[in-house]
Amino acid sequence: MDYGLIWSKLLEQIKKDLSSISYITWFQDTELYKLENDKAYIIVPMQIHKKHLIDNYSDLILSTLQDITNSNYEIILLLKEEIQEEEKKISNLNNNNNDNITVKENENVNNNLNNKYTFDNFIVGNSNKFAHAAALSVAENPGHMYNPLFLYGNSGLGKTHLMHAIGNYIVNQTNKRVLYVTSEQFRQDFVKANRKDESGTNFNYIDFFKNKYRNIDVLLIDDIQFLGGAGKSQEEFFHTFNNLYNDSKQIIISSDRSPDDLKLLEDRLRTRFCWGLTVNIFPPEYALKTEILKKKIIAGNFEQDIPDDVIEYIASNIGPDVRQLEGSVTRLLAYSAIMGGEKITLDLAIEALKDFISKGIGEKNDIQRIQKIVSEYFQISMEDIRGKKRSSNISFPRQIAMYLCRAMTSESFPKIGTEFGGKDHSTVMHSVEKIENEIKVNKDLANIIEKLKKDIGVV
Ligand code: ADP
Ligand code: MG
Repeated sequence: MDYGLIWSKLLEQIKKDLSSISYITWFQDTELYKLENDKAYIIVPMQIHKKHLIDNYSDLILSTLQDITNSNYEIILLLKEEIQEEEKKISNLNNNNNDNITVKENENVNNNLNNKYTFDNFIVGNSNKFAHAAALSVAENPGHMYNPLFLYGNSGLGKTHLMHAIGNYIVNQTNKRVLYVTSEQFRQDFVKANRKDESGTNFNYIDFFKNKYRNIDVLLIDDIQFLGGAGKSQEEFFHTFNNLYNDSKQIIISSDRSPDDLKLLEDRLRTRFCWGLTVNIFPPEYALKTEILKKKIIAGNFEQDIPDDVIEYIASNIGPDVRQLEGSVTRLLAYSAIMGGEKITLDLAIEALKDFISKGIGEKNDIQRIQKIVSEYFQISMEDIRGKKRSSNISFPRQIAMYLCRAMTSESFPKIGTEFGGKDHSTVMHSVEKIENEIKVNKDLANIIEKLKKDIGVV
């Protein structure tokens, strides 16, 4: 049974019945783990989803699931980290029902692929285009060109996404058997294979392990760095690797660092990792970040447009972790919904994301930070300070902010003009000059400027 497919059908159906914000908040990041013994095991991202889904949507989920599968299920909501525990409970149940352990040699092993991650929804920019091209070429021709493919880069840059994309592509185009595991899962399977059961043997598990890891055409192993230090598991992985490699089976490995920096891995493994192609995936550049934000917003099908200055604000203040970019969009929308569907503006975004964007994390956009501090001081909005209104209670703080941007950052007049709602560079020059002259004769203003400079701090 293809759980991914069942769930995407269900989500499609449910999406029609809900407002987009409810859908995004409560359903977007759910997954069907499996259907077994009349139970539907559903993975949810956070604890809060369990109560909310059961209280509000259990009937909807049940009836939609019934429409799709023609069966009735009891719903079980789990966090990812609870799966293992649940598995134990289930296997205990099975063990009690049968005298023998239920793992069979030819049991069809789940490929663990998440069909949410595809090449179609992977957005390509300068920083990841090489990784993307390498991944696609392996997907098109597994086991031939680049074996192994070793993808590395910091957290949140799309390694896991690309791995699933490769797996999904191969599964959709060929009959090849694909297996995606994390190195942690590999280690656990290995430990299990070495544990004796009540009869004093472990044949079933050994068969299960061999069948799972040798009887495949493509192995995707994620976050290999966690295999460091796990001596016996490393050794087993070495054998698994050799076995697959010698049979020209494709191996794809990801890591948060390059093979050379995997200090805790045995040399013989590190050497093997460099036999094929090693690809670094870099943090997204500004243009890619805005592209990702825009696509995520479109894919989410939100009712309201998110204005460009909000996207610019997020792209210049958050990152480089793409997970955080996604999180910021979700949070912004949830915030606007909680505030009664308030329109999304730059001010709202700043408020909604204030805990997300703490100073010092990511690349900060100094001009916007200065605008924020000045607008707070004069109790006007960010919209106004960046806008076109000419009344003096707004234009004066705006001129001060322009002056401070020029004095405290290395930004050019035109760039400052752009950040103030697209003003001409001569307007900025004029404002800066005006404030400069006025400070000389106006002590109060000079004091205010000093205070603001202190609040802004080092830029
Ligand atoms: P990693 O494995 O490198 O830590 P992930 O693959 O888990 O990162 O990516 C984190 C999140 O960011 C995922 O939801 C993924 O879909 C998304 N993401 C990362 N890079 C891209 C990209 N280039 N285009 C679209 N989504 C991306
Ligand atoms: Mg990952």
